Order: sequence, then structure tokens, then C-alpha cells
Amino acid sequence: MERATTSNRFLRYDHDGRPSWGLCLDNQVFELTGTPLDEDWKAETALGSPDELTLLAPVLPSKIICVGRNYQAHAAEHGVEVPAEPLLFFKPPSALIAHGERIELPAQSEHVEHEGELGIVISRRCHNVSETNAWQFVLGLVCANDVTARDLQRKDSQWTRGKGFDTFCPVGPHLVTGLSEPEAGQLQVQCRVNGEIRQDGNTSQMAFTLGFLIAYISAIMTLEPGDLLLTGTPAGVGPLSSGDTVEVEIDKVGLLQNSVR
Ligand code: MG
Repeated sequence: MERATTSNRFLRYDHDGRPSWGLCLDNQVFELTGTPLDEDWKAETALGSPDELTLLAPVLPSKIICVGRNYQAHAAEHGVEVPAEPLLFFKPPSALIAHGERIELPAQSEHVEHEGELGIVISRRCHNVSETNAWQFVLGLVCANDVTARDLQRKDSQWTRGKGFDTFCPVGPHLVTGLSEPEAGQLQVQCRVNGEIRQDGNTSQMAFTLGFLIAYISAIMTLEPGDLLLTGTPAGVGPLSSGDTVEVEIDKVGLLQNSVR
């Protein structure tokens, strides 16, 4: 099959117990030989509609680096300023779940919140890249939810506990490649709970731009192929309760839906 020259949508799915990559074209999934990180991947056998597959998170990061308070209006709702430099923290890869999987509310917290965010997936190992060259190291974009136990985050000076529970990093359904840096810098990011709009911001409102963030982070740590950057959440974060359905929808990137228990 001819590979598209513009934007491609990749997904990961469970193929009889074997995690596999697929290419999504017109609501048909084609089995991928190789991975989206390979230059020479091929999409071959048609597998049917994505609805018929058990989806996995479309990312395999060695680390998930997150940016806190990157939208002025979100910082303001917490009564703080946007920091002078990006505020970074990690989520563990063990927190990842796919589109359609359930966010589990932990017994240790009484206040879990959604944070709809644009995620960036790194294509090639890099260190100390310039802001100008940063986009060359981006493989694609994903919808993500930086689920947060707000009470535990507030109690702790380190956010590892409040941000790190299993299921606290829904990502998907696709990995979307081929969007330019200017396109990525003006995407509407919406988060809905049970259909009600809670967050509705735009990546153009970020305090630190995507290129700046990649350069800033890569000056600290080597970024590996597949690493995931969560770029901060717009205003409107709020609580999640058992039985809720939470959706993160980003223009040109997709619609990530998860239930809560
Ligand atoms: Mg966040």
C-alpha cells in the first residue's frame, strides 16, 4: 500500500495477546510491519474497523515528562502564577491506559481530577536540541489525560504520588503524525465529563511553546524514541466520580474516552 505523505494515524492493539501496530485509513485498520518509529514501515493486511480491536495506548515511552501550569488561566484557578521556567514532573509509564479503558479511583484519594492535554511523542534520540530544530524530533501527537489526585498533590511537595497511580495516564486512541509545529500550536483542547464541557482551551494559550518545551527538557535529559511529553492543561479542571465518562478531544488529533470507577 502507498503510504500517505501527509498525516497518518497509528494505533496499537492486542492481536491475540501480541501487542501490534496498525495504520488507520478511512476507518479501516491495516496491520503494520515495523512501528511508526521506523522509516520503512509498511501497512499491509486489512484488519477491519478500529471498533473491532482491543486498543492499547499508542505510545511506548521510556519516560513521561509533564509540564505543570503551562496555561495562565489554569495556574490562576489554583491561585498561582505561571512559573518563570517550565515546571516539570514525571508520570510513570505504568500509569498508561488506552482509549476505552477505565480510570480507577484510588482508595488513598478523595479528590481525583481530569486534566485534558496535548501529548507529544519523540521520534529520535536527542539531547540539547535548539528550539528552532525541536520539531524535527517529534514523531506525532496524542490526546492525553493527566489524571491527578488533587488532595495528594497538595499534601506532597513532590507530585509522584498524586500523579502516578495506575490508570492515571489515558492516551489515545491514535498517534497522529505529520502535523506541523504551527498547526500543533493552535489546536483546540476540550475536556468533557458526561458530555458537559469542563475545559475548552487552545494550545496557542500555552505560556511556553511546544518547541521551547522540547528544547528546555532536552537540555536536562536525553529524550528517547517514543518518549511522551504532556504539555499542560487549560483552565477548567474538575473532579471525577465513579460512573463518569471523561473525554479529551483535540482538533486534528482525536477523541480519547475513558470511564471512571
Ligand atoms: Mg497536567
